[in-house]
Amino acid sequence: SSGSGASGEKVLKVGSSIDFAPFEFQDEGQAEYQGFDMDLIRAIGKEMGYKVEVSNIGFDGLIPALEAKTVNVLISGMTINDERKQKVTFSAPYYESGLTMVVREDEQNIKKFEDLKGKKVAVQMGTTSAKEVKKLEGVEVKELNTPADCFMELKSGGVDAVVNDRPVNDYFIQKSGQTGVKALPERLTSEDYGIAVAKDDKELAEKIDAALKKLKDSGEYDKIYAKWFGD
Ligand code: GLN
Repeated sequence: SSGSGASGEKVLKVGSSIDFAPFEFQDEGQAEYQGFDMDLIRAIGKEMGYKVEVSNIGFDGLIPALEAKTVNVLISGMTINDERKQKVTFSAPYYESGLTMVVREDEQNIKKFEDLKGKKVAVQMGTTSAKEVKKLEGVEVKELNTPADCFMELKSGGVDAVVNDRPVNDYFIQKSGQTGVKALPERLTSEDYGIAVAKDDKELAEKIDAALKKLKDSGEYDKIYAKWFGD
């Protein structure tokens, strides 16, 4: 369950993989983690009367950290799915996402997911992208640590495509001014993000849901959304 600080103050010990702009990232020279998820969890904590402390944990290690009770909340662009529901309790969905792919700008042969047959594709380890791309026939999958590693591998010619969450692909190309690559419009999946707590921590999940609902009703959620994604 939720932790207490030295002063008796309640603390949300949050785990997040800080490699997923615009949801969680860190700008050079800035101490604070930024992004939609970071603003949302801070607003949720404030609503609940909890202090929020975020630890940067690789995506692959998030659920294990929750199970080990190193943290008590995960927010990390994490898709709600049945496999994860065996291990964690999710909040209500808070963001609608899905998977798209990124290829080099001069790519002629890959226009749709079916064109990936016989191609090399980079995905982030432990993600729904890794899971979904492995289901495609005849694709050579390279699992790397972060989306940035995947994009680098694409640019250097080590792979032919990157499959990753649509808003992260779009942000990478538009907001970070990346050239030489493009995102394709086809969506492989539609996925909802949820905030995860330990499987037996239903009470904390309910508190988070209540706070999320308040933020939606008050318009605060919309403000945070507009800040990162426009209206
Ligand atoms: N939404 C994807 C998943 O849950 C990717 C999340 C991420 O890389 N932060 O697997």
